[in-house]
This record gives sequence, structure tokens and C-alpha cells, in this order.
Amino acid sequence: MKYALVTGGSRGIGRAVCVALAQLGYPVIINYKGNVTAAEETAAMVKAAGQEAVLLPFDVAKKEDVTAALGGWIEANKGSTIEVLVNNAGIRNDVLMAFMEDEQWRSVLDTSLEGMYNVTRTIMQPLLMNRFGRIINIVSLSGLKGMPGQVNYSAAKAGIIGATKALAQEIAKRNITVNAIAPGFVASDMTSDLNEKELSAMIPMNRFGKPEEVAALVKFLASKDAGYITGQVISINGGLYT
Ligand code: NAP
Repeated sequence: MKYALVTGGSRGIGRAVCVALAQLGYPVIINYKGNVTAAEETAAMVKAAGQEAVLLPFDVAKKEDVTAALGGWIEANKGSTIEVLVNNAGIRNDVLMAFMEDEQWRSVLDTSLEGMYNVTRTIMQPLLMNRFGRIINIVSLSGLKGMPGQVNYSAAKAGIIGATKALAQEIAKRNITVNAIAPGFVASDMTSDLNEKELSAMIPMNRFGKPEEVAALVKFLASKDAGYITGQVISINGGLYT
């Protein structure tokens, strides 16, 4: 069995990605941190799309948790391969640098950047042996242009962009592509505290994006049709200048 793994698959963009990958034909491993109810809702949506859903909670920021849960799953499912990985789990904790607590810096970098490393490193050997794969990292406009109040988040996402480009070159020969998607503003729990009306006025499309619109791009990058695209950062932001 060939699986897709989506980190932070319980809500928002991650949930839409789980459904899109199920539509592409993959059974989906849905990772989340703590929101069991939301994760079970995503699992029901994956099953409604005709695919198996596996719930695999762990904190991507904690290497030992990733090793225990994900490493444990790989060990227990030797005949199966995780062929598509979407590193989507992320948090924001906005504050001006002058007032930033160490914990605000660390938690945002640990979840996005360390999380990407922890999960990708854990699946790397079996993925290389599979000789086909897709790694898709969800970054942000913030990691491309930098956003005031988001020094931690911009740094985390920019770090992933660098890692995406380097890893793409390391493993291209094995038919494994590594790309990043940089959304602008997307309607989800993460952006629910923002003034959507005011911010939409700055966006040429005059609206926030939908999680399904990001998921459609993930689905394409995960497909066989996207086999010659690697090391890229693709923006999806309604026309905001990047
Ligand atoms: P969201 O609605 O807040 O959902 C976050 C997801 O990440 C949840 O499934 C959550 O799990 C999971 N998560 C958080 N910390 C985790 C951890 N330590 N370990 C495992 N899972 C964890 O966020 P979203 O808006 O869908 O964002 C998804 C990704 O897109 C993030 O990387 C974000 O930075 C990026 N992005 C979002 C926007 C936007 O405008 N929304 C724009 C650009 C980029 P629980 O449900 O268990 O808490």
C-alpha cells in the first residue's frame, strides 16, 4: 500500500489536503496534535472519498514523539510506503521582535521548521528505497517577503524554503520531487482573528483563499503529471505581489 501523510491534517488547509489526496487515490495518514474531534471529521471525509484514513496523533515539534508514533507506524507496516508527504502543520504567534519572548520564537520554529525536519527525516530511508515520491511543504508569503510582527514565522517558513530547494537537488535522481507552496491569506482557524474585510481590500482578488484552492495545487504537485517540477516555491495568494 502506498500512503499519503499530511501533518496537521485535522483542520483548515491540512483537512482539505487530506480529502484532495484521497481523491487522487491515496489512503491518508492524518496527523494532528490534539484535536481528536476535528481529526475524526477529516477521517470521515477521507472515507467518504473512498479511501482508508489512519489517525496518527503526534507533536511534530518533538523528535521523540515523531520517532515513537511515525517510526512505530513505519515499523509496524513494513509492506507499505509513505509516498506523499505534506508538511503542513504550523502555528503563528505574532509579536514585534522588540517584545518577543524566547518561547514565542522557539515554538513557531519548532513546529514549522523542526517539524518539517523531524517528519521528513523519519520517512526518508523508506522513501528513497521506493524510488518515487512527493514532498510538499506548506510555507507562506511571510517566508518569501517577510511580514512585520512575524519575525519568528517568516524565519521558520524561509528556513523551509531553503531546505526544500536543497533536498530537491539531493533526491531528484530517485524520482522524488520536493516543492513548497506559499499561500497568502487563507480562511481557516489560523486567520480567524484577522480582519478579513480590511485585509481583502489589499488583495487583487479581493478575498481570502479557500483551503480547497491550496489543496488543489497540492493534488497536482502530488500527481504523476507534476513529475518534472521540483525545488520550486509556488505562490497561491490571489495576486498579492511576491
Ligand atoms: P490551522 O487551521 O490553525 O490548523 C493547524 C493544523 O496544524 C491543525 O491540524 C493542528 O492540529 C496542526 N498542528 C499545529 N501544531 C502542531 C504540532 N505541533 N504537531 C502536529 N500538528 C500540529 O492552520 P491552517 O491555516 O490550516 O495552516 C496550515 C498551514 O498553512 C500552516 O503551516 C500555516 O503556516 C500555513 N499557512 C496558512 C495560511 C493561512 O492564511 N491560513 C497562510 C499561509 C500559510 P490540531 O487540530 O490537533 O491542533
